[in-house]
Amino acid sequence: MSKSKLIDVIDLSASYGPIQALNNISLSVNKGEIVALLGANGAGKTTLLQTISGLLKPTEGKILYQGNNITGMEAEKVVEKHLVHVPEHRQIFSTMTVLDNLYLGAYHHRKKTKMKNIENNIEKVFNLFPILKDRKDQLGGTMSGGQQQMLAIARGVMSEPELLLLDEPTLGLAPLIAKDVLELVRNLRAEFGTTVLLIEQNVTASLKIADRGYVISHGTIVKSGNSKQLLNDPEVKEAYLGHT
Ligand code: ATP
Repeated sequence: MSKSKLIDVIDLSASYGPIQALNNISLSVNKGEIVALLGANGAGKTTLLQTISGLLKPTEGKILYQGNNITGMEAEKVVEKHLVHVPEHRQIFSTMTVLDNLYLGAYHHRKKTKMKNIENNIEKVFNLFPILKDRKDQLGGTMSGGQQQMLAIARGVMSEPELLLLDEPTLGLAPLIAKDVLELVRNLRAEFGTTVLLIEQNVTASLKIADRGYVISHGTIVKSGNSKQLLNDPEVKEAYLGHT
């Protein structure tokens, strides 16, 4: 696997008014890696993904993507660079069909992506998520929680991600369905070489699919390592693996 850095976050800080949510965060993800972000509720994981994808402006620090400075860039411009954020709570369009949700996923690239490519991408997505093909004419909001999550990820895939930021893709799903969703994340990398930065509440499950992880606490990185090291780390076990 290539060790070139796809994303390099350097001394990043971000605030909500007086609340400093990120404090001098530095991390990187190499091309082709799956990296997990671990940490308690309120640690700053979502804020970090939002700052990377341009939804929130950092107060300090730098974000380099493919070697280019994207710090403070508008979210629409970031997604055009194939850096795609699938946010928490699967924000799909519930009154639109599965197929139309997928077409909307390609919206940001409509000027550059030919219709033929969009159709090809839909085919690829259907191969990866056969359930979505079976249900292509069903309204998004009438799908099960797991199917909606798959649709949210599939819609992200329509933007041809080089780097996919996934925020809690298994939130609220039954354990077996959650396992399927995480398996799909791994398949995405195998099929398309997609690099993934993942927030996942199930630390054991996320470290099983991830190569490496970072632990965030109070807006700062307090630990990092490969998945095996983190799974065997006494502090990680104590803090996050006690009940899993
Ligand atoms: P969770 O797992 O609960 O989603 P998280 O690690 O993703 O947690 P963030 O959502 O990034 O944490 O929150 C980091 C800090 O920023 C918390 O103290 C939170 O209360 C605060 N925060 C997050 N969003 C806002 C907001 N819109 N306005 C004010 N403070 C916020």
